[in-house]
Amino acid sequence: MTTYPDDAILVLVETNHLGEVHPSTAGLLGAAAQIGTPVALLLAGPGYGQAAAEKAASLGARQVLQYEDESYFKQITVPGLDALSSAAELVKPQAILISHTVDGREIAGRYAVRSRSALAVDAVGVSRDAEGVVAHHSVYGGSYNVDSAATFGAPIITVRAGAVEERAEAQPLELEVLEVTGSGKPVAIISAVNDAPATSSRPELRGAAKVVAGGRGLGSVEQFVLVDQLADALGAAVGASRAAVDAGFVPQSSQIGQTGVSVSPQLYIALGISGAIQHRAGMQTAKTIVAINKDKEAPIFEIADFGVVGDVFTVVPQLISALEQRKG
Ligand SMILES: Cc1cc2nc3c(=O)[nH]c(=O)nc-3n(C[C@H](O)[C@H](O)[C@H](O)COP(=O)(O)OP(=O)(O)OC[C@H]3O[C@@H](n4cnc5c(N)ncnc54)[C@H](O)[C@@H]3O)c2cc1C
Repeated sequence: MTTYPDDAILVLVETNHLGEVHPSTAGLLGAAAQIGTPVALLLAGPGYGQAAAEKAASLGARQVLQYEDESYFKQITVPGLDALSSAAELVKPQAILISHTVDGREIAGRYAVRSRSALAVDAVGVSRDAEGVVAHHSVYGGSYNVDSAATFGAPIITVRAGAVEERAEAQPLELEVLEVTGSGKPVAIISAVNDAPATSSRPELRGAAKVVAGGRGLGSVEQFVLVDQLADALGAAVGASRAAVDAGFVPQSSQIGQTGVSVSPQLYIALGISGAIQHRAGMQTAKTIVAINKDKEAPIFEIADFGVVGDVFTVVPQLISALEQRKG
């Protein structure tokens, strides 16, 4: 019988219908390696388990429990939840780390109820103290850093995509097929999956390493192209403030902030964004923040690592041409 380390940290690894592991996996396994030995629970569709397991090992999973089942793409949440219950029973981990994705959040919440465990959500890091695992959170628009810890049992922690920089060392693949006991809980069935046509080759906003975001200062949908151009020069994802979304410059899916997406990239460039608290809530944990704004009093400069007081239409074209020259 396989044994698991006493300090096992169980990491839920999601895959898509092409068998690719979720982009947050490297950060989750990196976080797990900071506090114990990463053991991955890999959820995959039929035929995709082996390649995805190899990927999980290369990202630092010491052991991989593979749950490869058709139901993963045919039913919502319950297959992953049942697999997590079976894996946790087997591994007896000291904590469970799950990505703070839509699916991850649902599995985490339901598993916490099912197992009567403590749940800590939207962590931006994890560590250990004398009493056990501690989750770190950035709250109230990044104004406060707070820590949470469970007073009993192994905590379930959802981790914000892109927030953890640490990476675990690659491991040789040690794979075990997980036997899952179905709970027989009522489940919603997925009757069809249609790929949305890709409208952009840019990275997805959630989990992107670089983000260029535009605000009301861009002035119009036509002029917002400047944000796209800088993003393309840097290989970055495009985001926006709510004012830019409300003005129709970009779709709502690009909105960053309290009522939009939360991002934690290595580099965040804010163009013509004032830096309202609701916007900061979604980007303040970015590692390096660059702001370009013509108002030197704009609050975005309070949190910027680098600021340029100037007109985006003058500064950004120069920035793009400097980047192009470097590439050239
Ligand atoms: C409940 C609630 C939830 C909200 N949720 C969100 C949210 O999720 N995300 C979000 O972003 N907002 C959110 N908001 C709105 C938020 O309060 C701000 O209104 C919004 O962020 C402002 O967007 P902005 O910075 O683009 O616009 P503005 O505040 O109008 O700022 C535009 C900036 O552009 C600068 N500028 C103008 N022209 C130029 C130029 N040519 N060159 C350089 N700089 C220029 C100006 O100096 C100014 O600082 C929320 C508000 C509420 C009440």
